[in-house]
Amino acid sequence: MPQSFHDLTFDQLREHIVAAGLRPAHAGTLWNTLHFRAMQDPLAREDLPPPLRRWLTQVLGDGSWMLDAPPVSLDTPSSDGLTHKFLLRMADAQEIETVIMGYTGRHTACISTQAGCAMGCVFCATGQMGFVRHLRPGEIVAQVLHAQRSVRAKGEKGLRNLVFMGMGEPLHNYDSVMTALDIICDTRGLNIGPSKISVSTVGVVPGILRMAAENRPYNLAVSLHAATEEERAKLIPANQRWPLTELMAACRSYNAQTGRRIFFAWTLIEGVNDTPEHARRIAELLQGLDAHINLIPLNRTDGYTGTESSDSAADAFHRILQDAGFPCTIRQRRGIDVAAGCGQLKAAKRERRKTTA
Ligand code: SAH
Ligand code: SF4
Repeated sequence: MPQSFHDLTFDQLREHIVAAGLRPAHAGTLWNTLHFRAMQDPLAREDLPPPLRRWLTQVLGDGSWMLDAPPVSLDTPSSDGLTHKFLLRMADAQEIETVIMGYTGRHTACISTQAGCAMGCVFCATGQMGFVRHLRPGEIVAQVLHAQRSVRAKGEKGLRNLVFMGMGEPLHNYDSVMTALDIICDTRGLNIGPSKISVSTVGVVPGILRMAAENRPYNLAVSLHAATEEERAKLIPANQRWPLTELMAACRSYNAQTGRRIFFAWTLIEGVNDTPEHARRIAELLQGLDAHINLIPLNRTDGYTGTESSDSAADAFHRILQDAGFPCTIRQRRGIDVAAGCGQLKAAKRERRKTTA
């Protein structure tokens, strides 16, 4: 298996460049080409220094090194122009989703961290697929670079925000995700500010504690969806491994250690977790935490019978949390016509294949 240039941090790249007998400055040139210019093929850069070009041509040619420049296997712009969804094909033919959301000057990319997911949340299209494998740092970075190229192709400056809310559980693939983030935030490259990046977890307690201990400067989002052990375990099997009580203790410790707010996500499912009683229970559970609550109406998936809450139930829910003193937002439903929910594009494509077969 060749090594990927996109797996490397700047320092790692420089070590390899120096070990190859090239000048250290060539590391800066290659980094600029891959991560600042976001060029898919560095050899296409005309002013590449000849020694660097010779070396790259050699190592890419003999298969000792590779680039993560995944081809697009499906490109689905939404009719409202606000969501653009891609399926990218990895070297082993695994397909992962990357989504760009937003409007002029304010684009957010939604990034995947695994092919499939082991956590098995019942309402989630990725969970319904099961776990396939972790993504390498380069495969995560490549999605951001693809999104960057796509935004720039529209004549805009580039991406502003990133959310790790695509396929997979980021904190189940901790090391690769954190290395990818080091690469993405490097000011000589993509230069996306840590405060513009959100990492969403289903509640992998050791990962939350590690982010706090390492003082990782990203926004942390925690997918809550239920406020009692019993109700949460029904929606999120991983609650058995990391029960709500442990998760809440980890969140409190994260708040205290980092001084950072936590963004709790609550997917509103009609009759399941959207009654006023549920809203009051959240307020009780999160009492004293520095918390923001994001309410997201369920996107329907084939493997789950639940439906989204009515607008009136969502509004009432929202009001109770606001009255309890929590900053709270209802996320707009965007790009539903391109199946913008987590893992849904891939699921839809598979379904179409089945129908045509
Ligand atoms: N594994 C991480 C990040 C990816 S999922 C996590 O679970 O947090 C990103 C968000 O999408 C989570 O809050 C998840 O609960 C939510 N989600 C998954 N499937 C959904 C669906 N069908 N409708 C609405 N939200 C969904
Ligand atoms: Fe995995 Fe997140 Fe989907 Fe749950 S919601 S199955 S943790 S991707």
